Amino acid sequence: MKTVCPINACNACGACSEICPKKCIRLTQDYFVSNAYIDISKCISCKKCESVCPKLSIKDFSSPVEWLQGWADEPIRRKSASGGIASAIMYSFIRNGGYVAACRFLNGNFTFELSNNAESIRYFSGSKYVKSNAQNVYEVVKKTLKNAPVLFIGLPCQVAAVKNYCSNHENLYTVDLICHGTPSHKLLEKYLREQHYDLYSISDIIFRSKGLDDCKYKKIAKSVDEYMLAFLYGASYTDNCYNCSFANLSRISDVTLGDSWGSNYTEEIKHGISLILIQNPKGKKLISDTGIDYKLVDSTVAIEHNQQLNHPVLKTKEHERFVNAIEGNKSFSAATFKSISKAVIIQKIKTIKNTVLCRKDSNHFGIRILP
Ligand SMILES: Cc1cc2nc3c(=O)[nH]c(=O)nc-3n(C[C@H](O)[C@H](O)[C@H](O)COP(=O)(O)OP(=O)(O)OC[C@H]3O[C@@H](n4cnc5c(N)ncnc54)[C@H](O)[C@@H]3O)c2cc1C
Ligand code: SF4
Ligand code: SF4
Ligand code: SF4
Repeated sequence: MKTVCPINACNACGACSEICPKKCIRLTQDYFVSNAYIDISKCISCKKCESVCPKLSIKDFSSPVEWLQGWADEPIRRKSASGGIASAIMYSFIRNGGYVAACRFLNGNFTFELSNNAESIRYFSGSKYVKSNAQNVYEVVKKTLKNAPVLFIGLPCQVAAVKNYCSNHENLYTVDLICHGTPSHKLLEKYLREQHYDLYSISDIIFRSKGLDDCKYKKIAKSVDEYMLAFLYGASYTDNCYNCSFANLSRISDVTLGDSWGSNYTEEIKHGISLILIQNPKGKKLISDTGIDYKLVDSTVAIEHNQQLNHPVLKTKEHERFVNAIEGNKSFSAATFKSISKAVIIQKIKTIKNTVLCRKDSNHFGIRILP
């Protein structure tokens, strides 16, 4: 069967399927691969799918001209995964009359929405460590750009897709995230199911929490959160992420956001500090409009602590063992143990120690759900 980009290399950005005039592209997502299949009996060979695909056509890379770090005011920062700069940018953009397209959790899916209502930002903020679905937002963004500025925040492959999709870049502002990689939606579903939760029945999900406003949320794993461990160790991503074209210093967006690991503001790290890479004047405007007092960051230290600014995550034996176990029908827990047993054991010992010493778990990474 014919696919838009090479078999198993697809990012699942959904742009090809949305642009296709014949609606003859079917997206499939498995545990570790995605594909966009073309029904050749309906295809008219217009090649729109190829020109929009970020795997086949990438334009507009540029290098950062400024390296900053900073954090938003409470309570924005508290509700965010890192320093809350993404939300600060969204608030000022909407205040200045623009629209924001970003990812939120809704009815079991991680979908994109376009909004010019500041109330929506609380649904957008927070990192969702799973493959999201930007399909159906591209056309809405394209139409809105004719009359108003739009800020698109997403993973680098999704930012590349929206730029390919929309020819009018004058009103388009983009923010991408430094991206480690994403596990498939199907894998998250499996993990939650084995923990006795149905992704489609829960009201909300948080992957990383500052622990202050989340008392209604339930921590999913009493001891070790295998989903987040497999994510942080790079064992559970889809195949394409190990060859990501965006894991380097040439950026596709106006502003790139990540975590300022290795920051000299050591006291602030536990509350979250955003790393900010500005690529151009549009990026400068997005950042200065927030009114936040940013600090300079040592780019060498920032790169040292963020390998995704140099190369994609490596495809290791741990990933191979994880894939083999999941495809061999093992449980998520069993696959994680087969893949990264040492990390699981260390986490278990830490949990026992914390319990015995009545110490609060200081790890912000871990799935919490609102039933
Ligand atoms: C899958 C993934 C992997 C990441 N890997 C790294 C990494 O290796 N190193 C690093 O420094 N930072 C990484 N980040 C970025 C980090 O988690 C923070 O998002 C970033 O530091 C900005 O933090 P913040 O507090 O400003 O905003 P946040 O509160 O994190 O909000 C970020 C914005 O990103 C959007 N978003 C969240 N999840 C998704 C998603 N799945 N798909 C599309 N858009 C999404 C939200 O809608 C929001 O607009 C990753 C983020 C994601 C989602
Ligand atoms: S070539 Fe045109 S018609 Fe054929 S699948 Fe691609 S977008 Fe659709
Ligand atoms: S456009 Fe996106 S969904 Fe379509 S083949 Fe390319 S990467 Fe996959
Ligand atoms: S690692 Fe690259 S391909 Fe994978 S989700 Fe992130 S940006 Fe997209």
